[in-house]
Amino acid sequence: MMENNPYKNALKQLENAAKALKLDKELVRILESPKQIVTVSFPVKMDDGRIRVFTGYRVQHNDARGPTKGGIRFHPDVNIDEVKALAMWMTWKCAVVNIPYGGAKGGIVINPKELSERELEKVSRSFIKSISKFIGPYQDIPAPDVYTNPKIMGWMVDEYSKIQGQFSPAVITGKPISLWGSKGREYSTSQGGVGIVKEAIKKLHLKNPSIIIQGFGNVGSFAAKLLHEQGYKIVAVSDSKGGIYNPDGLDISKVFEVKRYQGSVTKYEDGKIVSNEELLELEADILIPAALENQITEKNANNIKAKLIVELANGPTTPGADKILDKRNILVIPDILANAGGVTVSYFEWVQNLTNTYWTEEEVMKKLDKIMVRAFDEVYKTKQKYKINMRTAALVLAVKRVVEAIKHKGFE
Ligand code: NAD
Repeated sequence: MMENNPYKNALKQLENAAKALKLDKELVRILESPKQIVTVSFPVKMDDGRIRVFTGYRVQHNDARGPTKGGIRFHPDVNIDEVKALAMWMTWKCAVVNIPYGGAKGGIVINPKELSERELEKVSRSFIKSISKFIGPYQDIPAPDVYTNPKIMGWMVDEYSKIQGQFSPAVITGKPISLWGSKGREYSTSQGGVGIVKEAIKKLHLKNPSIIIQGFGNVGSFAAKLLHEQGYKIVAVSDSKGGIYNPDGLDISKVFEVKRYQGSVTKYEDGKIVSNEELLELEADILIPAALENQITEKNANNIKAKLIVELANGPTTPGADKILDKRNILVIPDILANAGGVTVSYFEWVQNLTNTYWTEEEVMKKLDKIMVRAFDEVYKTKQKYKINMRTAALVLAVKRVVEAIKHKGFE
């Protein structure tokens, strides 16, 4: 189904921006085409002695503005179209916040929940060995994404350093602090997203808004924590097992406890259990998708009650749903703006690694907030200038920046 192919959705979004910008067809073709696609298969000996062959991808979409940058995802549904879409979105994301990178993404088709820690480490190291020729501090810089984390980044940077024969922390971001990760990287996507939520609340003049968050992983859980600490009412959260809803608000520190000790937010007692589908349609002012793609579609867009959607996940809304939400006057803050805090602090991490100087958490957060507010303003102004929605405005701003770089580099 076209709606669920993220790459087709990404191309459709690009087409909308190209139309607004009246871009030449040749330029659109450059932007549509990933610069390099690497597919690897590698065998790993599992704990029981059997050999399993894993497939992984690394897609580098466009490097006109700098080395490519983007996370590595471990998920059973990873496929080449998903990775291509995510890589393209990374190009736009880095351009929206104006940091000196192009876009890339990687993934392994794997269910990490079925693997022991030892097996996970072997898979992580083997993947880096397989793609080591294609990555580097000035070439392509991976980071964490769904079901990958600082520990995995630590193994990966160690493997890469061994291959190079030198300590190379700047090749991967999202590392543990002890391996020169940046202070604040862990919650940076959420911190940036919360800044964006607050700017959007101002624009819509929302008073004491209630909030739904889908996904309670790195991004969703920190967003819930930060918003809760700042006095916002979170009425529903979910993870892959389902969600929990209480119109009077959830005690987020308790939700953290049940998630940690009982494995799922659905074990929280003071609320009603809902499915992930029901969660999206609950009564609330703000909806924050922070899980996976294709959650808001033509099927449910008409049932959404929120007035504001802030996409902390990548690609949660399909183009068909976008049209419906536009018609219903629901403000959607797109992923490439809303979740750019993570890659922004990844950029800070890379700068710190390359210069071997390290910043305090306060310095990191101050610089992050400045970049996010500036990006929000620039996108909002673009929206008004071209009379388009926030998604197309963010894309127009990003595509314009990438096209300028392509033109200035010239052609052979
Ligand atoms: P994560 O692995 O830490 O968490 C994913 C969460 O989604 C988990 O709580 C999981 O239970 C939940 N989930 C999985 N399937 C679900 C389903 N069908 N319905 C509802 N929830 C489901 O991943 P993350 O790093 O928090 O990433 C979440 C999203 O944010 C992804 O779209 C990712 O690309 C995006 N993102 C992450 C970062 C980052 O810095 N980690 C940066 C930008 C964007």
